[in-house]
Amino acid sequence: MKKLFCILMLFSALVVCSCSDVYRYTDYSFFAMDTVITVTACENADFEGIEQAAKQTERLMSRTDSQSEIYKLNAENTASLSQPTAYVLEKALEISVATDGAFNPCIGTVVSLWDITSGKNIVPDDEEIEQALKYTDASKTDVKNRFVAEYGTYGKQAVEKFEAVSEEGIQVDLGGIAKGYSLQQAYEKLKQDGEENFCISFGGNVAVYGTSEANAKSKQKGWRVGITNPFDTEEIVGTLLLEDGIVSVSGKYERFFEKDGKKYHHIFDPKTGKPSQSDIESAAVMCSDGVVADALSTALVVMGSERAKEFYGKNLYDFQYIAVTTDGKILISQEIYDIFTLNEQAKNSNNKKFTVEKIS
Ligand code: ADP
Ligand code: MG
Repeated sequence: MKKLFCILMLFSALVVCSCSDVYRYTDYSFFAMDTVITVTACENADFEGIEQAAKQTERLMSRTDSQSEIYKLNAENTASLSQPTAYVLEKALEISVATDGAFNPCIGTVVSLWDITSGKNIVPDDEEIEQALKYTDASKTDVKNRFVAEYGTYGKQAVEKFEAVSEEGIQVDLGGIAKGYSLQQAYEKLKQDGEENFCISFGGNVAVYGTSEANAKSKQKGWRVGITNPFDTEEIVGTLLLEDGIVSVSGKYERFFEKDGKKYHHIFDPKTGKPSQSDIESAAVMCSDGVVADALSTALVVMGSERAKEFYGKNLYDFQYIAVTTDGKILISQEIYDIFTLNEQAKNSNNKKFTVEKIS
């Protein structure tokens, strides 16, 4: 499997600060959902609980695990869903409508046709793409809820059941949204557990909370979330200073193969069935709902800068974004403009001259 780069970098001198007189910060990492997940919190935090929950979400929602609910739905065109899978699929379908199909959870046939990370590096021909596109109509997948009577400890009670139905051939793929769900779950859990300072990184999806004392020297409270330079992934274009927030990044640089000098990446334009050719190289979305943040970051890349700006202006979701365009513009929506700091090095970078633009 292709090694993933962590696309957000977090700066904090974690070991020097204590969260109470007794405990210290620690980093806990594990692999799930095709990515390295790192939780930074007090050493007594329930790291294992987070790991188990993430692995459970993967078991439920994976497209490739033959035991998963999504696998069953794809194989049989119908499946009973647990509440988390039903929630994520419903949300994905809703966002698909809201983004006019830029985000499409029924993109599975296209994703498996290209098989970007397989190492095969084969560019499918137009006929194959045409065929795959026939099965990507998200309006042909539905989640139904119903209440059924069941006998429990307290006698007869109404229990909510979820069932998904899909048209023959459709392959649901929650790869662009499930990590956001898992991140949201972990974020809520740590807050509920009373953790006062933490950072959770699910690949390109990050949640931070509290006022890390690491920044005490600069008298700034909060965590610095670094946004990777899509043209040089060893660098960052800048940082966002946050005390409480969820940021999800999708980038064309994340998973790709190269063939005959052309780059083929993993974010597909559902209209063409090919890697998106928009002018956005990477998009970071900040939103209090991790599920929405994850899906919208993928959607904005597909939309490109003009459509993304229009979508932002519609206020369908309460989110903020930073988009890095192919020609080196860093577009920042108004409410996070003041908490973004441009990396001076990136500004003078030889390969790109970045310019910052405020979107309102
Ligand atoms: P990553 O999974 O690398 O963090 P994203 O959140 O952008 O990146 O999700 C990309 C994944 O989502 C792809 O690997 C694929 O499974 C799926 N996907 C690709 N294009 C789309 C799209 N237009 N809409 C919804 N899902 C997509
Ligand atoms: Mg995403």
